Amino acid sequence: MQLPTQFEDSMKAALGGEYDAFRAALDQDPQVSIRINTRKVSAPTKGVEVPWCATGQYLDKRPSFTLDPLLHAGCYYVQEASSMFVEQVYRQFIDTEAPVVLDLCAAPGGKSTHLASLLDGKGWLVSNEVMRNRVNILRENIIKWGAPNVTVTNNDPADFGKLTGLFDLILVDAPCSGEGMFRKDEQAVEEWSPENVRFCAERQRRILADIFPALAEGGILIFSTCTYNEEEDEQNVHWIAEELGAEILRIETDPAWNVTETDAGYHFYPHKTRGEGFFLSALRKTEEEPACKRKKKKEAKVALPPSAKELTNWLTEPVKLTAHNDVIYAIPADQADLVDMLSEHLRVLQSGVEVATVKGKDLIPSQHLALAWTLRNGVFPTVDLSWQEAITYLRKENLTLPANAPKGYILLTYRSVPLGWVKNLGNRCNNLHTQEWRIRMQVDGLEFNDFLEL
Ligand code: SAM
Repeated sequence: MQLPTQFEDSMKAALGGEYDAFRAALDQDPQVSIRINTRKVSAPTKGVEVPWCATGQYLDKRPSFTLDPLLHAGCYYVQEASSMFVEQVYRQFIDTEAPVVLDLCAAPGGKSTHLASLLDGKGWLVSNEVMRNRVNILRENIIKWGAPNVTVTNNDPADFGKLTGLFDLILVDAPCSGEGMFRKDEQAVEEWSPENVRFCAERQRRILADIFPALAEGGILIFSTCTYNEEEDEQNVHWIAEELGAEILRIETDPAWNVTETDAGYHFYPHKTRGEGFFLSALRKTEEEPACKRKKKKEAKVALPPSAKELTNWLTEPVKLTAHNDVIYAIPADQADLVDMLSEHLRVLQSGVEVATVKGKDLIPSQHLALAWTLRNGVFPTVDLSWQEAITYLRKENLTLPANAPKGYILLTYRSVPLGWVKNLGNRCNNLHTQEWRIRMQVDGLEFNDFLEL
């Protein structure tokens, strides 16, 4: 790998005698790691644990993830291990029972799905992505993960301006010059320049200044990048502390993790820590911030069809049902006001769980419901698929069900984990898998060895 000379010079200055080890690490293969969705898969895997994340696992090789139905079922997320350090901030500094959390730069959803697991169904997560072309993959990953307490939005950081003091935790995983991604992404090497570093650092300040009013007084800000340079990392953290009003927090780390601590945060270097390059800092907001008022809105009458009553029985938790056109969503009853307020100010793509679409007298269960943590067991008949059948389903091809399968909507599972729906008409069945999510890869003759222990 050919590195830009100015990058090499700055790393030599930062790392001194460690530079050669760092340089050698860049020529090694990236680590492969996953984070388990313990709401869906309880057993540990065969991998080695990521020490700073209770659900993180290293794998000794990279399986063909696309061919694993359990990936499509949201049982795990393929995520680089250093990024999982976010968990330490959550565990060490968030003591609110039901925090309101914002992941501002969220696509494709690695840290959002992690935060959703840490919230474990309590409080609320707003998972935001400003780029329109990246928000669909975020939404897909959030749906597959299955948490019932997430709103996906597509907003510029400045759009959060009216939601002052709303969030107990804001994660800004900022767009950056990507030095830490060099061994994974050649384009990051090609795009690197001192000018781009400066451009990124300035953009990060704009993002931080725009979002800071939305953080509650005493709330926690996580600022992270996948880059090493001081301009984007330390200098920006000091700027937040001094200009925006926050104290930099010390995160407890185990010396065995080999994380490098500076006066402003924590660096993950690939020659020392098992993961890609990463930087993270946690700050507590000291600046006063009057919280925006959560108005109790008058109950808007939502025209739900009479059959919709049945939907509350499909779910394990008390919910408020809302309808947009023919689609019905379930919001946990205690968060309905918050969700209304978010819809008033933000471009919301989805809140809560999409439960069903109304078609005449029929209620068509949504893919989201199949994958949600709150789907009640036993409401729908299930058919467990072989690997080959699961792949046929995920490719949205025709599937043949066992002759004794009942008519109507059937929940398909793979190794007992829900995958999605078919409507069994008797002589054939309709594959209801989401068109945009289907596997496009040619799979003829391929095999897959399950690697999760279920
Ligand atoms: N947090 C994500 C994860 O863990 O999967 C990765 C986020 S990536 C490092 C940074 C994100 O910031 C990208 O999705 C990018 O589209 C978004 N972004 C780019 N420009 C932005 C801006 N001006 N304001 C906010 N977000 C921006």
